[in-house]
Amino acid sequence: MKIIMLGAPGAGKGTQAKMIADKYHVPHISTGDIFRANIKNGTELGMEAKKYMDQGLLVPDELTVKILLDRVGKEDCKEGYVLDGFPRTIPQAKVLDEALAELGESIDYAIDVDVPDENIVQRMSGRRACLSCGATYHLEHVPPQKEGVCDKCGNELVLRDDDKADTVLNRLKVYHDQTQPLIQFYETKGVLKTVDGTQAMEDVFQSIIAILEK
Ligand code: ADP
Ligand code: ADP
Ligand code: ZN
Repeated sequence: MKIIMLGAPGAGKGTQAKMIADKYHVPHISTGDIFRANIKNGTELGMEAKKYMDQGLLVPDELTVKILLDRVGKEDCKEGYVLDGFPRTIPQAKVLDEALAELGESIDYAIDVDVPDENIVQRMSGRRACLSCGATYHLEHVPPQKEGVCDKCGNELVLRDDDKADTVLNRLKVYHDQTQPLIQFYETKGVLKTVDGTQAMEDVFQSIIAILEK
């Protein structure tokens, strides 16, 4: 089962991707998490990616594609995976498609978590992230048990630099310009499914399960 999560930044892709990965025992692959882990560890890749991420811009395709193809080539991806935050451009989608085609494979579902721009700023300003384990919370909707502390690993929760209001608006613009065209791309391939991402988290998940188990 190979699944791509589409949707604006803050739409809930990561939240749903983790739930899908848990239920169906496939890896959850987030290019954003991979970049953040590299920034945290001070790698060259991390330093390069940070220049773009801090401005709300996309990391260049060459860099991103290489990382993703390495990751999906690993043993644990044989039975499938959930991609969260990749592809984000048409060229990225085409490279992925070609790499899969060479193996006689293809994407099974591209799930668009649809949330209007008006809701996005609220989602992102309330998001709190654990940069150690990748868990995400929301001050109102998904609060941690102890304020400022990750339930899963006990590390500190932060407001991501790129979740601050001015960067969020840039990211939304980048989303509309560069990522939204993927909806049409996967529609044409016949694998696009849309869910209403404004529902409660568990209801969004039920909508997704209904699609996957149809
Ligand atoms: P969100 O969860 O809000 O959608 P992500 O964690 O997926 O954000 O991504 C954070 C940032 O990492 C993006 O704004 C972008 O700079 C970079 N990034 C992540 N995935 C990609 C990608 N596929 N292509 C280019 N840049 C990416
Ligand atoms: P994305 O990966 O698309 O950037 P996230 O999964 O990180 O989005 O969700 C963005 C923020 O919104 C997080 O703080 C998350 O806890 C919260 N959130 C996710 N899904 C919902 C939902 N259905 N209702 C309310 N808040 C949500
Ligand atoms: Zn944690």
